[in-house]
Amino acid sequence: MNLPDREPLKRILVTGGAGFLGSHLCERLVEAGHDVICLDNFFTSQKSNVTHLLNHQNFELIRHDVTHPLWLEVDEIYNLACPASPIHYQFNPIKTMKVSVLGAINVLGMAKRCKAKVFQASTSEVYGDPDIHPQPETYRGNVNPIGPRACYDEGKRAAETLFFDYHRSNGVNIRVVRIFNTYGPRMHPYDGRVVSNFIIQALRGEDITIYGNGSQTRSFCYVDDLINGFLAMMDAPDDCIGPVNIGNPYEFTIRELAELTIELTNSKSQITFLPLPADDPTQRQPDITLAREKLGWQPAIQLREGLAKTIEYFAGVDLAAFRRPTS
Ligand code: NAD
Ligand code: UDP
Repeated sequence: MNLPDREPLKRILVTGGAGFLGSHLCERLVEAGHDVICLDNFFTSQKSNVTHLLNHQNFELIRHDVTHPLWLEVDEIYNLACPASPIHYQFNPIKTMKVSVLGAINVLGMAKRCKAKVFQASTSEVYGDPDIHPQPETYRGNVNPIGPRACYDEGKRAAETLFFDYHRSNGVNIRVVRIFNTYGPRMHPYDGRVVSNFIIQALRGEDITIYGNGSQTRSFCYVDDLINGFLAMMDAPDDCIGPVNIGNPYEFTIRELAELTIELTNSKSQITFLPLPADDPTQRQPDITLAREKLGWQPAIQLREGLAKTIEYFAGVDLAAFRRPTS
């Protein structure tokens, strides 16, 4: 019998696969026909993010903590497991550092054994509070190593170091992306991130809480664009290992975001100003020249359109079904 001439499908592990970004990634990989193993300990997510995938025969869900070794046979690994918002990663900062460092060691060890390609979800936070603007990948950052954000920033920096050392010492095929602020459906409603906070406050008609005077900036990438960037990076030639910035270069002040959220929700919410948290970066904008040149990638969805889709999602969600991080 002649088998159809098609690219063999891969077995792919996604750590943190039940989270906001992970669930979108799993969805795309399942749709492409790959065998997907989603691994998560549900620290900052819930099964409902992936229950729609459970009926697919090429999707498997494992409850596991990535700080403990794991033994699987896979072709590719996307390492996303890590609490990602300040209130989540500051909840247990020592554990956050362990997730980044031990998680990286465990997935890299597995990649070395299986000869799998391994992808690290790094972050714009490796640049800290940047004094170069916008931030290219060559910028080495301005991180406070002893501040309240350090557990995340320095954990992610250490993970990058481990990825490059496994690559240099053991020939592990790595891909490292630095993700800038991303938003969209399935963000955790109580993760304290600015987009989810503002939308929920606006939908409830509560005060919109701007920390500081709202002049600090962020550049917001819609989740579908980001996942396209992930897939392009994983498929890039083997000399393109990164780090590569993935984000939307359009920069907004937090005040502009608040005003746009009020407009799109047609809300009667007022803006209120609260103290700025320690080490909160004053500006952030990715330089995506490298992603454009090496991956042919750039975002297509601008904030107004993406925010409208995210508002539609939050308007339809039962917020009582979500756990707060401290519970
Ligand atoms: P998220 O919190 O929704 O997802 C993280 C997932 O990892 C959750 O499902 C959580 O339960 C899981 N997890 C946490 N600790 C774990 C552990 N010890 N073992 C197994 N699973 C564990 O956050 P997200 O926004 O989807 O972020 C995914 C990744 O992308 C993270 O590594 C984050 O640092 C990175 N990132 C995200 C953004 C963003 O804007 N969303 C920006 C920069 C980097
Ligand atoms: N922020 C805010 N109000 C909120 C939540 C966040 O003004 O209710 C600010 C926060 O201080 C920061 C920006 O919005 O300057 C982005 O915060 P987020 O936690 O979403 O991401 P990060 O600081 O990690 O980029």
